[in-house]
Amino acid sequence: MDTTPTDALISQLDRLAGEFAAAIAPLDDEQAMRATQAQFLGKKGQVSAVMKELGKLPLADRPRVGEAANRVKDAIAAAVDARLAALADARRAADLARKVDLTLPARPVATGHLHLLTQVRFELVDIFAELGFAVAEGPQIETDWHTFEALAIPKDHPARDMQDTFYVADEIVLRTHTSPVQIRTMQAHPPPIRIVAPGVVYRRDDDATHSPMFSQIEGLVVDRGIRFSDLKGVLTHFANRFFGGSGGLDVRFRPSYFPFVEPGVEVDFTCAFCRGKGCRLCKGTGWIEIGGAGMVDPDVFAAVGIDSEVYTGFAFGMGIERMAMLRHNVSDIKLYYEGDLRFLRQF
Ligand SMILES: [Zn+2]
Repeated sequence: MDTTPTDALISQLDRLAGEFAAAIAPLDDEQAMRATQAQFLGKKGQVSAVMKELGKLPLADRPRVGEAANRVKDAIAAAVDARLAALADARRAADLARKVDLTLPARPVATGHLHLLTQVRFELVDIFAELGFAVAEGPQIETDWHTFEALAIPKDHPARDMQDTFYVADEIVLRTHTSPVQIRTMQAHPPPIRIVAPGVVYRRDDDATHSPMFSQIEGLVVDRGIRFSDLKGVLTHFANRFFGGSGGLDVRFRPSYFPFVEPGVEVDFTCAFCRGKGCRLCKGTGWIEIGGAGMVDPDVFAAVGIDSEVYTGFAFGMGIERMAMLRHNVSDIKLYYEGDLRFLRQF
């Protein structure tokens, strides 16, 4: 029997399905398969090219050709699906073939922890909280008045030197100490006052033991009958709680000058490393410098409207970085801020 043009066209279509299957057999990614699919089924594809001949066929034959065209399209789609399924099976088989020891313990998940300075700050606050101190905070961008003027540091005072202070604008500074919090607290609350103010401060300083940004904790107690011996009692308790262990650490005051306290003192603790015998850390003196303190100057009380004939108070301050340095023997203040995990993970 002679082959009619219709039969020829149909067998041509059926051949395309086989050609497509052969074309995608070596492909192992879906994108390449889809591209090949488009070459066969797209507007300019090979199936469409064959279908253009449809118009030349007798009307009665056309449904058979249409069926064949659908058959090819289905076959091509099925071939893609089959090939993708085969690839997925192969991947899964490869996964299963890998030797996995399900009894091995899982790798530990690395968890973070609080930064050393935060840990030390919390610890400092906790010790003072035991003594009934509340935490007070204030803005880091402060007015000149709160930072200096109200603390008896007039305009011509050396502590206001441009070398030391970052000015944001006229009369606005980055606070150089946490003491403005004292002023804000005394303005907001009548005595009795018992606060610690931890926070970040800024100075134009930069070397191994100074950073332009560092943190302090400052204490203020105001009430009737507050005496210098109360200051010594609080700091002695603190020294033994923070460095203590077995206790027995003493506090030493050396006369000093801070504009906002009178009298003012430098505070030393017995060196906790040698218990006062003298070592490298205390440079052989047996004492470690901790910070400054003193009785609140009546001028400061006057600035905030507290009657210094009725109330007295003491204030003290220390650097949190320095406390952490002493506690953990950290030699360079920059280590705190570099974010180097080799350093931070030690604490
Ligand atoms: Zn020592």
